[in-house]
Amino acid sequence: MIMVLFGPPGCGKGTQAGIISKDIQIPHLSTGDMLRDAVKSKTETGKKAATIMEEGKLVSDEIVINIIKDRICHNDCKMGFILDGFPRTLSQAKELDIMLTNENMKLDLVIDFSVNDEALISRIEGRFSCGDCGEGYNDQTKLPTKDGICDACGSNNFIRRKDDNRETISKRLEAYYKDTLPILPYYKEKKILQSIDGLADIDSVTNELMSLIKKWDRYRWLECKGEYNLDLRTIFYKK
Ligand code: AMP
Repeated sequence: MIMVLFGPPGCGKGTQAGIISKDIQIPHLSTGDMLRDAVKSKTETGKKAATIMEEGKLVSDEIVINIIKDRICHNDCKMGFILDGFPRTLSQAKELDIMLTNENMKLDLVIDFSVNDEALISRIEGRFSCGDCGEGYNDQTKLPTKDGICDACGSNNFIRRKDDNRETISKRLEAYYKDTLPILPYYKEKKILQSIDGLADIDSVTNELMSLIKKWDRYRWLECKGEYNLDLRTIFYKK
């Protein structure tokens, strides 16, 4: 299964991509994480992206498209993958379709996390992660079970993203509304778009996502067996 988790910064798509990826055992591809790694390792891409990211603007389509193009042809992507933070412009969305067609793949599902700006800002300001294993936390919604100790790896090295401050968050939201939100009609038209409530608690969002994935799998299986003559997507999206 190839899916895109879609929504503004702080909507929870990264957290959910991490959970779902472990559950259904396909890789979680986050362009934000890949770019932060490139910045940390001071690669050419990282040097180009660093200031743009700190300012809350979008890195060029060319850079992120090349990152994804290189990544999806790895062996671990053969059974599918979860995209988080990509595509973020209509050109990226169209380029993704071309890349997938070239690899004999197709996008199965786009899940839109619906949220409101106020909730987003306080969520983003509250988030932090383990600097050693990457486990995500939040001051409001998910603190480590033992104060100051990472639940996943026991480290006490917690970090906050440089771009998770109020000023940069507003710029990132602006970029989302201007460049990213206009992609939705493209996916709606393709009948692969589903919306979920991104403000529900973490477990409820995971359950909703998993039930969508299972439902999709079942229709695909029935279609493979020839038990449905109708268009699969019409059945899946019938309310
Ligand atoms: P994220 O971790 O997804 O919030 O991304 C952090 C930053 O990386 C964004 O604010 C952008 O500067 C950059 N970035 C990540 N993904 C993309 C993308 N698909 N297109 C352009 N810029 C991106």
